Amino acid sequence: MNIHEYQAKTLLKKYGVAVPRGGVAYTPTEAEQIAKDLGGPVWVVKSQIHAGGRGAGRFKKADGSVDTAGKGGVRVVKSVAEVGENAKAMLGHVLVTKQTGVAGKEVKRVYIEEGCDIKRELYLGLLIDRATSRVTMMASTEGGMEIEEVAHNTPEKILKVDIDPAQGMQAYHARQLAFGLGLEGKQVGAAVKFMLAMYQAFADLDASIVEINPLVVTGAGEVLALDAKMNFDDNALFRHKDIEELRDTAEEEASELEATRHGLNYVKLDGNIGCMVNGAGLAMATMDIIKLYGGEPANFLDVGGGATKERVTIAFKLILSDPNVEGILVNIFGGIMRCDVIAEGVVAAAREVSLHVPLVVRLEGTNVELGKKILAESGLPILSADNLADAAEKVVKAVKEAA
Ligand code: ADP
Ligand code: MG
Repeated sequence: MNIHEYQAKTLLKKYGVAVPRGGVAYTPTEAEQIAKDLGGPVWVVKSQIHAGGRGAGRFKKADGSVDTAGKGGVRVVKSVAEVGENAKAMLGHVLVTKQTGVAGKEVKRVYIEEGCDIKRELYLGLLIDRATSRVTMMASTEGGMEIEEVAHNTPEKILKVDIDPAQGMQAYHARQLAFGLGLEGKQVGAAVKFMLAMYQAFADLDASIVEINPLVVTGAGEVLALDAKMNFDDNALFRHKDIEELRDTAEEEASELEATRHGLNYVKLDGNIGCMVNGAGLAMATMDIIKLYGGEPANFLDVGGGATKERVTIAFKLILSDPNVEGILVNIFGGIMRCDVIAEGVVAAAREVSLHVPLVVRLEGTNVELGKKILAESGLPILSADNLADAAEKVVKAVKEAA
């Protein structure tokens, strides 16, 4: 789960991470009030959306095109009136950044923050490294830039320490990074305190990512988080009700939320072939083979072990709620669930949703012959497939022919 910058800053601050003062606003009037309370002389108005690259992003105009000559989603201003004006220009408008895709995201909240005298912009990130089974803290002198680009073009500029989660982050880990970043004097102590607090927040809150980009050194030698991104492990949210309450459903894919409500694992993708599969591994293999035969999967969907009529119906509805879907591939292995029961579920569900796109079904496992017979005798235009390759080939072909 993802949260907004201002929410991440509030959480991190509780752990002792240094952040500038600020407040969130939903209207220009609220924005001006916050600016007055903060006091000047410089403020920053920041669009709050679940995507980075806001500073370099641009807003859409009324005709839907991107205003390339306009200002970005993060603006430094010098009066309370300008805070209000800029909040007004952002709220209710759609911001397009490198990370939002062409559709962009509507700004519904802005964060008003005290302006800060930046001397250096650095990068700091915490994530779980699957290769080492440890937590890695990454640091770089190239703050403010996209870290993926730094890693690609100048990998030597990324410093890393591996932290054993049983031991936790130690001061020497932090000092190693602080010196590597070229910090001096009291900045070193401030950075060590910052990093240890950031690690504590990461570990206590079951975060999967904490990224501070930029981490800045101010003219006065303070070390501050100017931006903050936090992602949380969904599987641990049950023990963090307060974090779950920060969820902003307006920022999430509606179909994915609906799937979560029904206990289905669904991820929307950009292709046109919907897939319904039981088991995450088989679902991945199904997406791969669709691509191998020249198609593009519209989604990942694992219906789980119990592919009952109800679940299959919900899954069909979810897949069809995506207007890009032009064909569906059902690939189910009947182990505990018998193929005849699955076939009945698929037939009933296809009738209930009045399926209007080609449907290819590949069944394998217990009672497979009976399952295929039920599909064949249903009177529905269901194409039955004998194996995975056959199924992928058939659905790609059917979609091409229908188009
Ligand atoms: P994004 O990464 O989405 O573009 P950031 O929060 O990193 O958004 O802001 C972009 C840039 O705006 C920062 O790199 C920094 O230069 C500037 N900035 C952000 N917050 C402040 C602030 N409080 N004071 C001064 N400059 C800021
Ligand atoms: Mg940033």
